[in-house]
Order: sequence, then C-alpha cells, then structure tokens
Amino acid sequence: MKIEELISEAEIKERVKDCGKRISKMYEGKPLLLIGTLKGSFMFLADLSREITVPARIDFITAKSYRDGKNRSELEIKIDDSISFSDYDVIIVEDIVDTGHTLNAVTKLIREKNPRSLYVIALVNKPSGREIEYTPDECLFEVGDEFVVGYGLDMDEFGRNLPFIGAVH
Ligand code: 5GP
Repeated sequence: MKIEELISEAEIKERVKDCGKRISKMYEGKPLLLIGTLKGSFMFLADLSREITVPARIDFITAKSYRDGKNRSELEIKIDDSISFSDYDVIIVEDIVDTGHTLNAVTKLIREKNPRSLYVIALVNKPSGREIEYTPDECLFEVGDEFVVGYGLDMDEFGRNLPFIGAVH
C-alpha cells in the first residue's frame, strides 16, 4: 500500500483542539453524550473527547458498510438500545462522509430516539462522493475523490494506526 500524506499529524491536532474548545463552550452545563461510529472514529473520538472540558458520556455504534476494498455495498447499524438518548445532548462523531448514506442513516436513527439536541461532526468530508444530500453540522477537513487512510480510517482494516491522513495509491 503506497500512502501519500495529505493531512499531517500536527494539522489534525490543531483542528481537533479547536473543535474541542468550541464544543466545551457550546455544551457547558449540558448532559453531553458523544456517540462514535466504529471502527473509523475511534482515534478521533479519543482525541476530541480529551479536548472537551465538559464531563461527557461516551458510547459507540457500529455502522458497517460491507465493502470490498473501495467499493461499498450494504449498510448495517448496531446501536445499544439501553442508552436513553432523550436524556442527552448528543454529538455524533464520524470519521468520514463520502456518499452520505451512513451518516444519513445514523442521524435518522438517533433523531428518532428524541435526544435533547443533536449535532454531527465529521473528521473528513468528501463532497465529490455524495450520492444523497447530506451535510454534517461540522467537518474538520475536506478531501477530493481519493481514498484516504490513517487516523482511524482503514483500507481493508490496515492503516487505522497512522497518526496522519493520507491518500492510497
Ligand atoms: P458513506 O456512507 O458516506 O459513503 O461512507 C461512510 C463510510 O465509508 C465511512 O464511515 C468509511 O468507513 C467509509 N469510507 C468512505 N470513504 C472512505 C475513504 O476515503 N477512506 C476510508 N478509509 N473509508 C471511507
């Protein structure tokens, strides 16, 4: 796998720090629940949550689009039904928005559970890949139509550990 660095570790750190600061102000005194989508958002959520000064609950959902390399097929979402979303101001923390199908489905599912409020943050936005209209409330970075790995993102399960985001060639 040949990887060309697109977004450096330092750039990621800076943006994540900024984001954490803003979230801390927005959610002061509120019951905050951060929901990460596995596996891709594990690193982003771990870093972002440490930049948030408000004590928050953390949970994960599994949103798996079965894919063969770069091609996606069916979407399966697993969510813990014991979480009482209506007690929380919820932030969905996602790794990347490409076609928009995953976040659209996840957002819909959580909205149906009537959270006090709902906000969606994506680490990476790939607007050229959109198949449906979907815009997260916040995206930290934007990339072109390349397939990216690193900082939680994988290519056939490899590369999630890299501290930067790079394009696969
Ligand atoms: P969407 O449903 O918006 O097409 O894609 C969402 C999911 O597809 C992401 O959570 C991620 O798992 C995967 N995905 C889409 N584009 C990329 C990419 O460039 N790199 C990686 N590693 N995963 C991607």
